[in-house]
Amino acid sequence: MTGSDVRARNEALLRWYRTNKRDLPWRDIGDPYSTLVSEIMLQQTQVDRVIPRYESFMARFPSVHDLARAHRIDVLEEWSGLGYNARAVRLHEAAAIVSRSGWPEDLTTLPGVGPYTAAAIGSMAMGRAEPAVDTNLRRVISRWLGAPLEGRALTEAAQSVVGEPAGDWNQALMDLGSSLCTTKHPACDECPVTDFCADPTVYSSPRPQARFAGSRRELRGALVRAHVRGADLRDAGMEMGRTADEVDRAIADLSAEGLLPA
Ligand code: SF4
Repeated sequence: MTGSDVRARNEALLRWYRTNKRDLPWRDIGDPYSTLVSEIMLQQTQVDRVIPRYESFMARFPSVHDLARAHRIDVLEEWSGLGYNARAVRLHEAAAIVSRSGWPEDLTTLPGVGPYTAAAIGSMAMGRAEPAVDTNLRRVISRWLGAPLEGRALTEAAQSVVGEPAGDWNQALMDLGSSLCTTKHPACDECPVTDFCADPTVYSSPRPQARFAGSRRELRGALVRAHVRGADLRDAGMEMGRTADEVDRAIADLSAEGLLPA
């Protein structure tokens, strides 16, 4: 594919995005804190569930300084129900660093911020030309190029095709991947870049989801919620049919991670 094909594909993608983009409360704000909060919430939670929780969180902690000053239990209370509570702890720690020292050049030095989240914040709120490589982007770009890409090959491929502005390009890929270029049944007839796509069958089998009921994650979430409402933690765990050993181990781990008081 020539450079002009790559440009034409990006122009078609961005045109489609401007007309079809989802109306999300953290979009087009250009504020790294809003992007950080939304991206941390989106790490393991669906967009529809995140929207009301994001709005409530931002109403309670409107700036990075407000979040940094908040008590941990208030942050966990506001996070309650989103699950994976370690995310709230890391977000709180990141806010403390940013409030004290400003945004670091290397965003991955912040707790909870990996390469994807750093690229999302950098491109959407700091004008950086970085592709935010997640499973959606991996699937779409692999289909564009006609081969399943992983690791370094994927990162280099994404860097070679990223459009401008990169923030819009990343969000366009997220929307394309969640609406048309889905895992099992890509809607290629409706796709704005169908003329530039090598193989729609790449990555057409979803990976199996881990079972939640009866899992350690379920127990950990229940213990943190019990703590927030002031209930007895051991009782809460035992009522779920877990053994005393399991509950004690989970409490000890959560305390070590800062999710429960030591
Ligand atoms: S043409 Fe089909 S497979 Fe290719 S990007 Fe569009 S929806 Fe995905």
